[in-house]
Amino acid sequence: MGRKVGVIAAVLTALAGLLAVYLYNRITFLDHDAVSDSVHVIYGVGGNVAVLRTQSGAVIVDTMAFPIQGRRILDLAERLGGGPTQAVVNTHYHADHTHGNPAWPIGTRIVATERTRAYLERFDPAFWEGSAAGSAPNELFTDRHELRIGGKTIRSFYLGRGHTGGDLVVLFVEDRVLHAGDLFFNRRYPNIDLEAGGSVQQWAETLDRVLALNFDKVIPGHGPVTDRAGLLEFQRFIAELAEFARESAAAGKSLEETLAAADLERDGAFEEMSIPFLFKFDRDFAIRRAWEEASGIVQPVELSAPAPAKNH
Ligand SMILES: [Zn+2]
Repeated sequence: MGRKVGVIAAVLTALAGLLAVYLYNRITFLDHDAVSDSVHVIYGVGGNVAVLRTQSGAVIVDTMAFPIQGRRILDLAERLGGGPTQAVVNTHYHADHTHGNPAWPIGTRIVATERTRAYLERFDPAFWEGSAAGSAPNELFTDRHELRIGGKTIRSFYLGRGHTGGDLVVLFVEDRVLHAGDLFFNRRYPNIDLEAGGSVQQWAETLDRVLALNFDKVIPGHGPVTDRAGLLEFQRFIAELAEFARESAAAGKSLEETLAAADLERDGAFEEMSIPFLFKFDRDFAIRRAWEEASGIVQPVELSAPAPAKNH
């Protein structure tokens, strides 16, 4: 009997070891692709990373989900980006776009909106008080921010609510490439963070303002790089979702009735995203969040100032 237990324990230890190796490899694996002459995208576990090559070095947008990934991204990005990191931009506060930050030296310029910084402090304080202290965004703006680095222009814009209440988009001006962050999930059901100021109802208008910028290619927060038509496809889905939820809430329908009556058509090619026991972004999730907003059941958490809508 004792020997059997010993064998089982040995097998379990070996399996745990294999699982750890598998997870390490899965988390640290990065793929990358050229988007323009000077812009690359890095794909991995977490939000898509953009790298701009300048004459002075790399400008990096988002850092994925783990410090250990951040170290891999830093190495790859500085090779693709022509030298040491000149600045990092965080599109929004979510862990899968910011938790790689601690890989960069303290004092690196890290650009984000003021609201993103406030959401980090409100929803994710433990991470940024621990070993990541000093790695949170340190160059903050409200509406618009510009960097001129190594012959390139990097413009960040806050254009309204959508995925959260603080998302920015980054325009690589000379390359006509946009990183849209999680305001754009390409052919995937989006996460909708109502608690942090996200809004299905305002999202499509925010995307109108994104589409008014001068770009040809767009890097989404999740999914493959695409063009303006790809972003329009997502906007049509968001608009359809918002209208359906508005009508359902106005008719006083319950969530169950709303889910049962859903006849959305714009998401035919969409994929689900999930990690078992953690989250699942699928059609029912999108409908539930849209209904919760339209019925007034979920309100954004109060920060010092409400998330500015953009009406111009
Ligand atoms: Zn996100």
